[in-house]
Amino acid sequence: MTPKASPRRIHLCLCHMSGNEQRYIDEAFADNWVVPLGPNVDAFENSLQDFLSKGDPSRDHLRIAAVSAGTAAIHLGLILAGVKAGDEVICQSFTFAASANPVTYQGATPVFVDSESDTWNMDPALLDFAISDRIAKTGRKPSAIIPVHLYGMPAKMDEIMMIADKWDIPVVEDAAEALGSSYRGHACGTFGNFGALSFNGNKMITTSGGGALVCPDQESRARAVFFATQARESYPYYQHENIGYNYRMSNICAGIGRGQMTVLDEHIAHHRRLAALYASLLADVEGVDFHANPSPESDANFWLSTITIDPSLTGGLTPDELRLHFESLNIETRLLWKPMHMQPVFSKAPAYTNGVSSSLFSRGLCLPSGPWVTEEDVEMIVSEIKRLASR
Ligand SMILES: *Cc1c(COP(=O)(O)O)cnc(C)c1O
Repeated sequence: MTPKASPRRIHLCLCHMSGNEQRYIDEAFADNWVVPLGPNVDAFENSLQDFLSKGDPSRDHLRIAAVSAGTAAIHLGLILAGVKAGDEVICQSFTFAASANPVTYQGATPVFVDSESDTWNMDPALLDFAISDRIAKTGRKPSAIIPVHLYGMPAKMDEIMMIADKWDIPVVEDAAEALGSSYRGHACGTFGNFGALSFNGNKMITTSGGGALVCPDQESRARAVFFATQARESYPYYQHENIGYNYRMSNICAGIGRGQMTVLDEHIAHHRRLAALYASLLADVEGVDFHANPSPESDANFWLSTITIDPSLTGGLTPDELRLHFESLNIETRLLWKPMHMQPVFSKAPAYTNGVSSSLFSRGLCLPSGPWVTEEDVEMIVSEIKRLASR
């Protein structure tokens, strides 16, 4: 029997307030801190810093700059890494366009590197090959590397950092989807020379829109804030010696962020609980694979739970057929990110491919995973997948 469309739309990942956000916003109004700096911004940055270095003294040196978007954080990371017009920057191909767009803001060219099939993230061996091949072809080193922890699944950061160190190339780690994930016991976002977080409405926590740059020390954090506030020099008048940006986070948004930090651990636990339930309920479904942690070294936040489908084992069921079916039930699912090397806007960018991300794109689907999704929702969704996969 086909269930009726849910009267309540089930979203992939919809923001969820703790109830504490309003208090911080009210404080900002009461004290007239309705500007892109203030007590909420300071407190939100400190709380992110605590979260990322909690129980991990090797991360104590990190400092956070809260900004207006994850995309802005990546852009600032590239600026601080020294990326200039005419440079090449290596970027994971299997990602959201926001990983690659800031490369072009700098007048640089993205060079895309494909994924490995266990993590779905940048293939370290292909990265190493791509760097040597770019040097052979252009006579110059790429000026930065952007790996991504897609859907919150950690990339193999130790391997990637070893290759980056060998070639002496800075890494801007895109952890927009990976707040709460860790790899070999360290928080995602803390491996690269810089790390980028996102607090868009659909991410692990939200500030309505916002992001943060994870910086290696106080000095580079000050540099990031300098570029995020129009690169104003310290003179009594407005003196500018660099091009700057208006990228700082508003004290109102940071108030939302402070409230969200009080439920971050709960959100992460909820995403992981749903992922474990999907994994166990789907374990015996032939032709449907849950994307699980590939080894005990990875501890994903499961921002989105994802599956791949083999139509030859599911009576020809395709991910898009499944998506349309769920849409008719008022349930949001989404095809996996279309790799950047397949995007018309990046058709001229060099790409090092191995078939992994294009294959995942054709086989995969993201399932509802956020704080409003219940265990009953997951059971119903899986029973629909089972029904359609065994036609
Ligand atoms: C969301 C996202 C970003 C950008 O973050 P915004 O806050 O939306 O600008 C960057 N990279 C990835 C992989 C993302 O999912």
